Amino acid sequence: MHDIVIIGAGCAGMTAALYAARAGRSVLLLESENFGGQITFSPRVENFPSIGAISGSEFADNLFEQISALGVETELERVTGVRDGGTVKTVVTEDGEHDCKAVIIATGVRHRALGLPGEEELTGKGVSYCAVCDGAFYKGGTVAVVGGGNTALQDALFLSQYCKKVYLIHRRGSFRGEEQLVSAVKGKDTIELVLDSVVESLEGGGMLTGITVRNTVSSETKELPADGLFVAIGQKPDNDAFSELVSLDADGFIIASEDCKTSAEGIFAAGDCRTKEVRQLTTAAADGAVAALAACRYIG
Ligand SMILES: Cc1cc2nc3c(=O)[nH]c(=O)nc-3n(C[C@H](O)[C@H](O)[C@H](O)COP(=O)(O)OP(=O)(O)OC[C@H]3O[C@@H](n4cnc5c(N)ncnc54)[C@H](O)[C@@H]3O)c2cc1C
Repeated sequence: MHDIVIIGAGCAGMTAALYAARAGRSVLLLESENFGGQITFSPRVENFPSIGAISGSEFADNLFEQISALGVETELERVTGVRDGGTVKTVVTEDGEHDCKAVIIATGVRHRALGLPGEEELTGKGVSYCAVCDGAFYKGGTVAVVGGGNTALQDALFLSQYCKKVYLIHRRGSFRGEEQLVSAVKGKDTIELVLDSVVESLEGGGMLTGITVRNTVSSETKELPADGLFVAIGQKPDNDAFSELVSLDADGFIIASEDCKTSAEGIFAAGDCRTKEVRQLTTAAADGAVAALAACRYIG
């Protein structure tokens, strides 16, 4: 039996593993997709204290190496639920079960889809949710990015390195991302801003060939040619597996405050998966530390 099982190996989960292992606890870290979490999709991180600039995947690799050196056990297994037997909790995965004394849920968030007809069929055939992963496929082409936050701005800048033209489509008249990113986007002549506009439909049979956008002020529609469409309209939590275990808010985030304690004794929530105002690496790392130390105190 492990002392602590951590679900999700993003910044929060790996920081929790770091603190728990350094506190002398046996830790099993379970990850369903890729060790590192969301940040591996970011080409450049410039706001983590003391690190000038680093790629998201290097940031994640460094953290993974740090916890591996401390003896944290890691497994690539999707968690499907947790049985809370009081002092013994059982984490159930697609491949088996793991008993432990405390659980830290750090499952982060997933991308949101536009919800348009054909979007699912065209995913991987022009529609993408990750510019860093798929951007290079569109070298020399024309692409569109949808969204108005930091991710959309970063994606547009990233894609402008490869593509001859990038449309940045946002439903409002101004961006809600960082001013520095907004200025950088406005300074690129390969990026064309399509503001006050929403994507109305996706064009193309087997492969995306264009998108139709509607101006929300004038109601005019126009078709833009696009080999690729990068959707960056935010994220949603993925906590359905824990809905019977802990209380979730109306949007599906685990209800836990700064102490990372959930409605269930010995079950903690850290990082983007919990109710909070700011979802960033710094806050995920802070949660990881808080949750791990709280779990250690709970175990005694
Ligand atoms: C493109 C992009 C750029 C960003 N840039 C920045 C930046 O410059 N600076 C910054 O501070 N932040 C940035 N962020 C935000 C930052 O990445 C997140 O706030 C941070 O990664 C949250 O960490 P987390 O550990 O809570 O969640 P995540 O990183 O989402 O990790 C959660 C992990 O849990 C796993 N998981 C989910 N469900 C299960 C399950 N059932 N079983 C097992 N594993 C599961 C997931 O696969 C994932 O690996 C960016 C995000 C994106 C997408």
